[in-house]
Amino acid sequence: MRAHALAAKGFMPPDEGDALYDAAILAGRDLPGLPFVEVGSYCGRSTVWLGEAARQSHTVLFAVDHHRGSEENQAGWEHHDPTVVDPRIGRMDTLPIFRFTIYEAGLEDHVVAMVGQSPTIAAHWRTPASFVFIDGGHGDLPARLDYEGWASHVVMGGTLAIHDVFPDPADGGRPPYEQIFRPAVESGRFRLVSATGSLRILRRVD
Ligand code: SAH
Ligand code: MG
Repeated sequence: MRAHALAAKGFMPPDEGDALYDAAILAGRDLPGLPFVEVGSYCGRSTVWLGEAARQSHTVLFAVDHHRGSEENQAGWEHHDPTVVDPRIGRMDTLPIFRFTIYEAGLEDHVVAMVGQSPTIAAHWRTPASFVFIDGGHGDLPARLDYEGWASHVVMGGTLAIHDVFPDPADGGRPPYEQIFRPAVESGRFRLVSATGSLRILRRVD
């Protein structure tokens, strides 16, 4: 599949994956010993870039997802894939595919799946992270809860990466821009470092 076709389906295009990897490598170099966190893994596409950066950095990536799909992945919605539905319960289950992806990539020692609701995991999370990537639910409420739950866990000097940021509504849904990117920058705690496609890399400065 061509890169733009992947992007249109909501999958991370290669240039964004490479930018994600490069940013994580820098975070791992500058802040050794701290883990990375990914919020929203789906079938593990972005996880492979981040997991490889974790391996190179001698650290681990905690990959948070309930694996039941976002609102926009459910039957009848644009991004629905019927092959990821568990027929026994009629609900999505991307965990088996995610596990296979990580196994195939040889990253099982560097990627730890955390299966559950992102706000629940965030509320009990206590470890500062050098790198947090938010690409979970893209509705207003899930996006806001991911910002509130995870931004504070980025250590000073660490990186907050946000996917599907579309400042122009013509390009895509607004919640990652309005509920994560803008509050992060307007809080004064994060400064924009780079933009690649819909990926934004921010550094914690306060
Ligand atoms: N980062 C992936 C794509 C993630 S798609 C990639 O680029 O390849 C968004 C994912 O967020 C879905 O798998 C969905 O299950 C997950 N998600 C949505 N809301 C969530 C929530 N509240 N808690 C945990 N995971 C959630
Ligand atoms: Mg995305």
